Amino acid sequence: TTKRAFNFNAGPSALPLEVLQKAQAELVDFKGTGMSVMELSHRSAEFEGVHNEAIANLRELYDIPENYEVLFLQGGASLQFSMIPMNFLKEGQKASYIQTGAWSEKAFAEAKLFGTPVEAASSKSNNYKNIPALSEIQIDEEAAYLHLTSNNTIFGTQWKTFPTTGDLPLIADMSSDILSKKIDVSNFAMIYAGAQKNLGPSGVTVVIIRKEFLEKANSNIPTMLKYATHSKNNSLYNTPPTFGIYMLGEVLKWVKAEGGLEAIEQRNEEKAKYIYDVIDNSNGFYYGHATEDSRSLMNITFRVADEELEKKFLAEAKTAGFVGLNGHRSVGGCRASTYNAVPLETCKALADFMVKFQQDNQ
Ligand code: PMP
Repeated sequence: TTKRAFNFNAGPSALPLEVLQKAQAELVDFKGTGMSVMELSHRSAEFEGVHNEAIANLRELYDIPENYEVLFLQGGASLQFSMIPMNFLKEGQKASYIQTGAWSEKAFAEAKLFGTPVEAASSKSNNYKNIPALSEIQIDEEAAYLHLTSNNTIFGTQWKTFPTTGDLPLIADMSSDILSKKIDVSNFAMIYAGAQKNLGPSGVTVVIIRKEFLEKANSNIPTMLKYATHSKNNSLYNTPPTFGIYMLGEVLKWVKAEGGLEAIEQRNEEKAKYIYDVIDNSNGFYYGHATEDSRSLMNITFRVADEELEKKFLAEAKTAGFVGLNGHRSVGGCRASTYNAVPLETCKALADFMVKFQQDNQ
């Protein structure tokens, strides 16, 4: 039998075993073509089938309205930090950013190169332990857009309710919780995500964008960095990351087969609960970084109260086969990333390990 790790990596991260096995079976001869997906022309009917099916399945899963485009880009979510202000900020114009962590800060910094980003709310003074309350957000109707990070991969916080912004276009970096639950796409002018957590391998960036918003973009920018270029060409302007798109397509089929977003969300809640319950019932042996109302279902950040024991915990967890539990290098501590493809049993195994470690060490 195949040995699979207890993989809690923050991204790239676990992919569904079924998807990997299907890709393996199809690797050298994709649907009788006598070649792998990687060897197909991106202009071939076979690849276009893969590409369009992935778009259709994402549309179906999220119930994406007709007036939105689904784009497959490259450059990661990080390039989106630049492309957004490059396309949508005019010189001297303001854009609002909600600061909830390191990735929000990076997005903010890029906007400074093109216009004037303004903080609409921030939880920095609280060491990014929480998502600001909706009432704290300064809505500036004059801004080009309002940007937020739906899930903060490093600090382990997640938006539970999104602001409604009326005519102010709302843009969300959903890199670390895309497809983890149902959302109302029509609330957003644009959603983007690097694929390497919930969607597939790294190399593809998914953008869901409202056509009316896209049409307002600046035109005097490089061809490859215009959303319009990719929208006009069904994301086939140049050679796309074909294998990544194929894998994304297979992950989307897997999500459908698992029962869609409602089933996925329910399982994600159950998975995270195993681990948060251990933290909450540990009498302070473990403590979480995020405030309870802002806890992420995707990245569970926690500490072992005693620093020496924390080192021992991480070392013993590693020996026991748990991978990726070290917190981000900028914050330390522990982090368990429980993305869609991390099985329930893996989360249960970590919860059991944590309970046992506490029993043995207090
Ligand atoms: N935003 C968030 C919320 C992330 O977690 C990450 C990556 N961990 C990024 C942006 C950057 O993504 P990429 O590496 O695809 O550029």
